[in-house]
Amino acid sequence: MTFTDPTLSIVVPVHNEADVIPTLLKRLTLVCRKEKMATELLFVDDGSQDNSVALLLQARRWCPEIRVLQLSRNFGKEAAVTAGLSHAKGDAVILIDADLQDPPELIPQMLAEWRKGADVVLMKRRSRAGESWFKKLTASLFYRLINRISDAPIPVDIGDFRLMSRRTVDALNQLPERNRYLKGMFAWVGMPTVTLEFDRDPRMAGQTKWNYLKLLHLAMEGITSFSTRPLRIALVLGLLAAGAGGFFGLWEVLKTLVVGVSTPGYASMIAIVTFLSGVQLLCVGLLGEYVGRIYMETKQRPVFILAEDSDERIPDFQPTL
Ligand code: UDP
Ligand code: MG
Repeated sequence: MTFTDPTLSIVVPVHNEADVIPTLLKRLTLVCRKEKMATELLFVDDGSQDNSVALLLQARRWCPEIRVLQLSRNFGKEAAVTAGLSHAKGDAVILIDADLQDPPELIPQMLAEWRKGADVVLMKRRSRAGESWFKKLTASLFYRLINRISDAPIPVDIGDFRLMSRRTVDALNQLPERNRYLKGMFAWVGMPTVTLEFDRDPRMAGQTKWNYLKLLHLAMEGITSFSTRPLRIALVLGLLAAGAGGFFGLWEVLKTLVVGVSTPGYASMIAIVTFLSGVQLLCVGLLGEYVGRIYMETKQRPVFILAEDSDERIPDFQPTL
């Protein structure tokens, strides 16, 4: 290894992954050793309650390239990744999940594309083993929806597993928003991109940290962070409903004038009233989503709080890879 080599940062968000960390470290270091680049393995502990942190800190004895950032509590994956990206020093930064769903063995391929000049190397899932058909279906519907309404399309079947060049990471770090919908932010930044395909493995051990409520929240985040088009759709809906209501009223008045007072349909009235109040509530709720986001942004709170940085405590580390 020479010090003129570009450095590589591998950013791994970790939340209760003690079961996979030994294997993860083994596979990651094996790959890094072959690459012969000055590498940092940047683990961001997102408020783990198991002994993930202890395992990582212990591993620093035989693998000093490991750096562990500990957030003060569980802030969520997006915040953990944001923390990692803002501290990564490498000229190339690779983002990878801790659960080995993204095989580290693909890193050399990604680096090869980067050396050829790509700024972003995306890893597209050819298959998604170990995921239910319901998750696959909802994911595909969500991407179709979001790409309809947002301005920078988000590529389908691409997770956070990716390589980014220094300037891409710098550009991302400059985006000031607090609501961090990373998939959308990556797409927004753009840059010359190469896409490679891979087969996504099932989770090696442990449980997925996502549930449908969290995914719904992320979906809402994705839609509202990147488009104000839903507001316009609400407006159009309102216009249509008001127009239809106006015509219906006019029709009723004319009918009364011509045919005389009829016994009006109670059922149809109830149907119209409930439908319209539903539409109204929906639009108010939608507006609320945006107002809520504006509120969160105006608070200007940091995205994450760093409690501990392993590099601060041991300043004289010697890279051995
Ligand atoms: N993760 C995190 N904070 C969280 C939830 C997850 O840092 O609050 C990490 C987790 O440790 C893993 C990655 O994010 O490295 C992906 O999580 P998971 O495998 O649970 O998500 P899935 O692959 O099911 O989408
Ligand atoms: Mg996973």
